[in-house]
Order: sequence, then structure tokens, then C-alpha cells
Amino acid sequence: MEFRELHDKWLQRRKEEKSDTTATGDIPAASVPQDLPDTITGIDGSSSALQGIKPFPLLRGVEVASDTFFNPRVPIISSPTLSISTASDFTLTELGEDIGEGGGGGQTLAHHDIFYLEDGNVEILCGDTVFRIHTSIVSFSSSRLRDVLSPSTLLNAPMPAGCPRVAFDDSAEDFAVLLKMISTPGFPTWYKVPEFTVFGSLLRMATKYGFTDVRDQLICSLEGAYPTKWEAYQSTNIVGEEVFGSPRPHPNAVLNLFLEHGIRFAIPLAAYRATLGGLSSLLSNEPGATLSRLPLASTIYGMEAIRSDVSRLAHSVVCDMSVRECRGGCVVDGDVNSPARKMKGLNRIYDAMVKVGGGDVLSPLEFGGIVCADCAEAREETYRVWCKRTWENLPRIFGVEEGWEES
Ligand SMILES: [Zn+2]
Repeated sequence: MEFRELHDKWLQRRKEEKSDTTATGDIPAASVPQDLPDTITGIDGSSSALQGIKPFPLLRGVEVASDTFFNPRVPIISSPTLSISTASDFTLTELGEDIGEGGGGGQTLAHHDIFYLEDGNVEILCGDTVFRIHTSIVSFSSSRLRDVLSPSTLLNAPMPAGCPRVAFDDSAEDFAVLLKMISTPGFPTWYKVPEFTVFGSLLRMATKYGFTDVRDQLICSLEGAYPTKWEAYQSTNIVGEEVFGSPRPHPNAVLNLFLEHGIRFAIPLAAYRATLGGLSSLLSNEPGATLSRLPLASTIYGMEAIRSDVSRLAHSVVCDMSVRECRGGCVVDGDVNSPARKMKGLNRIYDAMVKVGGGDVLSPLEFGGIVCADCAEAREETYRVWCKRTWENLPRIFGVEEGWEES
């Protein structure tokens, strides 16, 4: 059946059903067309609320730009009246009400405070926020946006406020960032990583709508803070989630974003950074910081593996020092260590290596104030070798597949 015929058929059914529901102005969920093939609607009405949910993509290639993210006619399930023209919508529009458009389901729509252009020719509904923009400007920037805002789509869209309204499944925050990116030359700025929430919005939107250069730029801007080589890691000043500036994001949220978008080169270090706050941090329920079962298991496993490994190392170093005579006498601050002081020093070395009280076990240590220079240097070197080896093993420790460096 041709699309036009299908659509006419549906329109006819809508008219019939609308005559039954004029009392409330609502279109019942049952009026959602069930027989339109997926190739036309993208999603079928009964399952549109599940479209955003996918199996957890641990390090699989990220899917760039899904074709099933919007549906020009079927409203979001949770707000079944919003994209259907109702008598009440028209009334509000004619009264010239700008804000507080009432939906039949009790949901209130608000115009976006910046991107509601009175002379725009299409409305985009994201959640309960309405944008009004120019299709020409948006379509010019992205072929994917051009496709979803094609003339045929707009022709079939409801017009509750005098121009076609299309429901997107993006959040209003994400979509506003997308519009800012399209309308602001030089945003996002090269060499300046945006704060995390904006970064996340940009990455999601650039990926979904095919702004490959922006996506590449964003990922490239992370390379300094998420190096893949030990030497680079040692010389970097801004590490991990610090790159997003203030407010500092939760390391779990960063890990989630990298996993979701397949930014593989950064995942081993992001996973390691997530372990630095310990178990309570890994189990965080902060918005965006909740880890799914698989990454949670991987990070807990990795954290325990590193901790027990450094504990073994510290134990063997301390045992070795306790039985070995130091020719330098371990003179510290002019005093030759007594056995009691020596034991105290060894305990300090042990505590420093296992980072008692928490901390980054991959950061360098100095034992110069505890034992003599010779002993300190030898043990610092032992620790450095362990750090380098552990760093190189991070992908394996956190279960990241081979090829993780290529993103
Ligand atoms: Zn010594």
C-alpha cells in the first residue's frame, strides 16, 4: 500500500475516532495506527516509549544516527495528546497565549526561552518544551535533520499552533545545545572542552544527527586527559574527568558516557578513575552516575585486583627491607634508625604504597624522608615499575577488549 493511501486511511480513522472523543479532546492511545509499516513511521506506536532503550553496548561500536528516533505523527506515549491538534490547542493559539499551553493529559508545554522564534516555520517538541525554528537553517546543517524535517513529514504533521509540530525523543537540553551549535559559529570551541553536561549533549546530538566533525573534535579534545601511553600519563597535568572543568562530573557519569558512545581509548582510564572513590562512589545513585551491572562488576573487579596487587607488592618490599642490612644505615635527619624507628618507617612505606585512606595508586611516591636516599631510590623504582605495568594492564584489568586504543 502506498504511503499516501495509508495516511489517508489513518486520517479517516482519526476523524471517526475524534468524533467520539470530542468531550475531552483527547485521542485515545488505541487510535495510534498499528498497521503502518515500520519503514514509514520508523517506530510503531505501541512501542515508541521503548525506542531509546538498547542492550548495554559495552565497548561495541557505537551506532551513529539511528533512523528510528522520531515519529512525525505518533505522539510520545506518556503524553498522548500533545502532537495531535485538539480544539483546546487551537483556542489557546488564537488567544495568543505564549506559554503554558495546556495538554489534555495535564502536561503543560513551555516555549523554549531562546529557541522559540516567532517567525519559525516548524515546532519541535522535546519532552514538554516546544522549540520553533526555521527548517531551512537546520536542514542546511545536517542531512539527517533534513530527512526528518522533510516537506512530506511537515505536510503530515499536526499544526496545533499554526505551523507543523514534530515530536523528537531528544531531551530539551540536548536539543537546545544542538541548536546553539548550529547557530553559533565556533561553538564548541577548539582546544576548550565544554563542561560535562554540554559535552554530553553535544556528543549525543553530533552522533545522532551526523555532525561527524564536531564528534571528532569532541573526542580529540579528550586525548590529553585520557592518554593511552604511560609516558604521556605521567606528564599530563589535567587527568580524567578534570578535563571537563567545573562542575566536576562524577567519574561514573563520565564512564557511562564513554561506554555509551564507544570512546574506547578513554575507557580503561575512565574505569580506573571511577574506582578512586572506592565502593561507595562506584555504587553511587546520583543522576547519570549509576553504573549498569556489567560495568559495575568490571570496575569492582578491577579495583579489587589493583588493591590486592599493590598490597602484595608493598608487603614484599617491606619484608625485603626489614631483613636486609642497609649500608647507608638509613640515616634520616642525622639519626641512625633504631629497630623501632625502622619498623615505623617500614609501616609508613607500606601505608604509602597501598594508599591507606584511599588515593591514586598510580601516582609516584617518595620515600626520601623515611629511609636513606639509596633505599628510597631503589624502592621508588620498584614502585614505578609496578605502576607502569599496572597502567599497561588497565584494559585487561577492566575487561576492555583488544583494539581499545583505536577509537
Ligand atoms: Zn637505607
